[in-house]
Amino acid sequence: MTLPLVEQFQYGLDAPICLTWELTYACNLACVHCLSSSGRRDPRELTTAECRAVIDELERMQVFYVNIGGGEPTVRPDFWDLVDYATAHRVGVKFSTNGIKITPERAESLAASDYVDVQISLTKSVARARTPPRCARCRTWRRPGSRASRSRWW
Ligand code: SF4
Repeated sequence: MTLPLVEQFQYGLDAPICLTWELTYACNLACVHCLSSSGRRDPRELTTAECRAVIDELERMQVFYVNIGGGEPTVRPDFWDLVDYATAHRVGVKFSTNGIKITPERAESLAASDYVDVQISLTKSVARARTPPRCARCRTWRRPGSRASRSRWW
């Protein structure tokens, strides 16, 4: 017999409801106020196989969802595969993005998913801005002369 929710909660939870995961420090912007000083990829970043192993562990623990940030997680070439892998293993995904790499097609597929939430700030298009690009999420300008404005960063 299943206990009513109120009674189940009095025993606490077996696993966290949500975990936060800074998947990468790589970022395609370089905001002045970035809390994680993101820009260049950390060479110790987890490999795809290691990330999948983390997801497997989350599934075993029955973690409800993982909150992915960074850095800009979408600059990882395996990011969408990892999202698919997580949702296929019953780990929901919420991720924060500056939106630069979200195409209309990607936005449509995300909107159709019941297990993926996206956190993004909407501001004017970087492509249309006459001023230097700024972060779509935090609305600040790139650091002048920053690495990200001179070369690839991931
Ligand atoms: S987009 Fe986000 S992670 Fe990238 S530099 Fe700006 S605040 Fe940092």
